[in-house]
Amino acid sequence: MDQLPIFLSLTGRACLVVGGGAMAARRSRQLLDAGARVTVNSPQLCDEVAQLAADGRIAHVASSFDARLVRGAYLVIAATDDPAVNSSVHAAGERYGRLVNAVDDPAHSHFIMPAIVERAPVVVAISTGGAAPALARRLRERLEAWLPSRLGRLAALARSWRSTVKASIVGGNERRRFWEEVFDGEVADHVLAGRDAEAQRALGRALNGPLPQRRGSVALVGAGPGDADLLTLRALRLLQDADVIVHDRLVSADVLARARRDAELIYAGKAPGRQAMSQDEINATLVRLARAGRRVVRLKGGDPFVFGRGGEELDALRVAGIDVEVVPGITAALGCAASAGIPLTHRAHAHGLVLVTGHEDLDYASLADAGLTLAIYMGSGRLGTLTASLIAHGRAHSTPAALVENGTTERERVVTGTLGDIARRARAAGIGSPALLFIGDVARYAKSPVRAARQPDIRLEQAAG
Ligand code: SAH
Repeated sequence: MDQLPIFLSLTGRACLVVGGGAMAARRSRQLLDAGARVTVNSPQLCDEVAQLAADGRIAHVASSFDARLVRGAYLVIAATDDPAVNSSVHAAGERYGRLVNAVDDPAHSHFIMPAIVERAPVVVAISTGGAAPALARRLRERLEAWLPSRLGRLAALARSWRSTVKASIVGGNERRRFWEEVFDGEVADHVLAGRDAEAQRALGRALNGPLPQRRGSVALVGAGPGDADLLTLRALRLLQDADVIVHDRLVSADVLARARRDAELIYAGKAPGRQAMSQDEINATLVRLARAGRRVVRLKGGDPFVFGRGGEELDALRVAGIDVEVVPGITAALGCAASAGIPLTHRAHAHGLVLVTGHEDLDYASLADAGLTLAIYMGSGRLGTLTASLIAHGRAHSTPAALVENGTTERERVVTGTLGDIARRARAAGIGSPALLFIGDVARYAKSPVRAARQPDIRLEQAAG
């Protein structure tokens, strides 16, 4: 390492930015955020910097580079696109003993500005020592996805308790162990799930007694329609923290592959017409695991609250006094529509969307409005009845229809037709389960998979090693 990483306090310090373009704007904002007093030296300013000057947030010296300004500055940024100017700013820094950073010009920089990931007050700074800025950016993206958004709140909580903890736990080792338990245990679980009051109470309890055994918890997590890239960041984090994952048949192998390797997997599968575990057994299992102090993820296809029995499980867990968190997932209707290119609402074709299950008899009259897009779940076994009933209640025979099987996965198939012939076409194509039926004018947009090509994933492990 030939640079020293430091976090510098700039409150009230005079800093100079040479240049008036977009990069100068960005650096000026960063310096202002750190509390610096900023002077911008440039004959011209872009709109953004001009606005900062107009608002009185920065001072503006409207001239070409004036080396004397360097002398009065604590820190200097050369943000012009002219290497000759950068080089004279650097030279002035040398002369007056001031630290200069020239944007994208390591040869004329005393220090670099790292790529950062911020969860204030937590800041992670990344540098490759100028060797590979693009790699630093990729690392930053990884960390952005990996660090929970409420991490800052956890740090802030620790800050607010720091002196109290210091006063009541005297031994340094003991104190360190205490904080480790806070960050690995129940307190962190509460903060990251947004239960700040519980976190405060848990921390207070922990401080006043022997640390209680970690309380188990259950997260009802939506796994999305199949493509693991469609998981939310929070779902991914919970999957990586889970002790036990209780999953359904609809959860794809791709998604399960993102779980912590040593998490226990329990299959609560519900194949059509058959139940591996009854709903009561599932509820009881979740309660039992949580009471044993385990971090449980109850992983469901799509969204837990859309035809997913999430409501029943939530009730059971609440009655049992278990901490529960619900994490939404992309429901099949949204995933399949995106994948097949069907806009679910459209100013010219559809003013509303109805999600219904084809499992049961529906109030067909209420679905007759031609301006409604219908997304019918669990209907593939009853396509004939469903479509005939809709026609009998006034939906036109010619209404476009599209059936999406295994939407968003590699095995996705799309069959298109009309309300009048989709059942026959589905039979001919041998469509099975899971499949989702769209009915309405917008279904005419359906195309066979229009998935975005996946971005090649650079192998950071290799790049780092
Ligand atoms: N909670 C889930 C729905 C569970 S009901 C969600 O929000 O998506 C199961 C039904 O969802 C299936 O019968 C099918 O109609 C639909 N479904 C789930 N995943 C699907 C997929 N990948 N492609 C098509 N339909 C799907």
